[in-house]
Amino acid sequence: MPPKPYGCRSEATPREGPLAPDLVRSTTFAMPSAEALRAVGAGERPGEFYPRYGHPAARLFEARVAALEGADGAVSFASGLAALHAIFCALLRAGDTLVASRHLYGGVVAMLEEDLPRFGICVRWFDPFAADDLERALAGGARLVHVETPTNPLCRVVDLERVVTVARRAGALVSVDATFAPPPLQRPLALGIDLVMHSATKFLGGHSDAMGGVVASRHALLEPLEAFRRRTGAILAADPAWLLARSLSTLELRVRRAEETAGRLARFLDGLRQRGARVARVHYPGLPGHPDHELARRQMTGFGSMLAFEVEGGLEAATAVYDRFRLVVRAVSLGGVETLASLPVHTSHAMMTAEERRRAGIADGLIRLSVGLEPCADLEADLAAALAPFGGETTAL
Ligand code: PLP
Repeated sequence: MPPKPYGCRSEATPREGPLAPDLVRSTTFAMPSAEALRAVGAGERPGEFYPRYGHPAARLFEARVAALEGADGAVSFASGLAALHAIFCALLRAGDTLVASRHLYGGVVAMLEEDLPRFGICVRWFDPFAADDLERALAGGARLVHVETPTNPLCRVVDLERVVTVARRAGALVSVDATFAPPPLQRPLALGIDLVMHSATKFLGGHSDAMGGVVASRHALLEPLEAFRRRTGAILAADPAWLLARSLSTLELRVRRAEETAGRLARFLDGLRQRGARVARVHYPGLPGHPDHELARRQMTGFGSMLAFEVEGGLEAATAVYDRFRLVVRAVSLGGVETLASLPVHTSHAMMTAEERRRAGIADGLIRLSVGLEPCADLEADLAAALAPFGGETTAL
């Protein structure tokens, strides 16, 4: 069998030679003969040919992601949005319908609204938290259902087994954006999902220094994705691929430590709310009052390190709290070793209209936290100090 141009789960860590991989930046590779040039280019013989067709660092990263996701293989891209674009455009054609969750990262919503319809792909929306809404959206048939779980920014958890059951009945594939909860927090493929995608820029990379995206799946779906990537040129470059592959070695440690802190911070903020601080609501699936708490317990092996809280008084009050952070970093993105806070109304969901945000339950006073690896007590102190001028008892619990 000719080698796959993308990384496969079966590719093991070397037991001999350098343990850390070399970084190959070369954009071309010398061939010993015309026959070698032909055979390597045609994919009949192993060897490097041209990095847009795949390169060692990308394949290493892909093989590691495939192993973590329990997939045949994975295909990597220059960003998370490039990965999603490839799923939609490699697997759908003009006249096909994509049924998409209303609870998606704003950048994906913009792509689905602005770009796909221009190429004749019909996008139908559904609310994954409203009973029978997926059945309604699938009534006219569809090729693909796309969901995100946990959702950005409210950390709602979508019932993946239910989505798979309903989609299968309609003959549709299912893709999931699992950016908010990387392995080992959930294993969507084991629940019957066809394609699992990550913005690798976030938890997989984990150090806020590499941008990328990745899709893990079975060979029958990876092959068209890789061919599309080759034709459109959206492959992950060597330097970020090398960093991302390296970062996966500590993924589980980072995820588990950040999750422990996030759980404590969520309980801390909820405690402040109960004692009269101007916190209207805390959104974290690990809190018993979260609408998807029981589902998260069943479907995930942990609740993750993303949370959000609403400041009473809308955007003005949230801005005042936000500007008082001393340790928490005011920044977009997520999943890194530093705790970052964003205001979704200005960032991840700025491209949605006020009405779309209202329908998705994203309040103007919402602050989203991506919890990092700092000592929990320092983060509690920072949050308490930021909220202190706004009433209630804010000392550490
Ligand atoms: N999906 C989710 C859930 C995200 O939060 C983001 C970015 O914030 C993306 C996809 C897009 O990823 P990227 O920024 O790597 O293109």
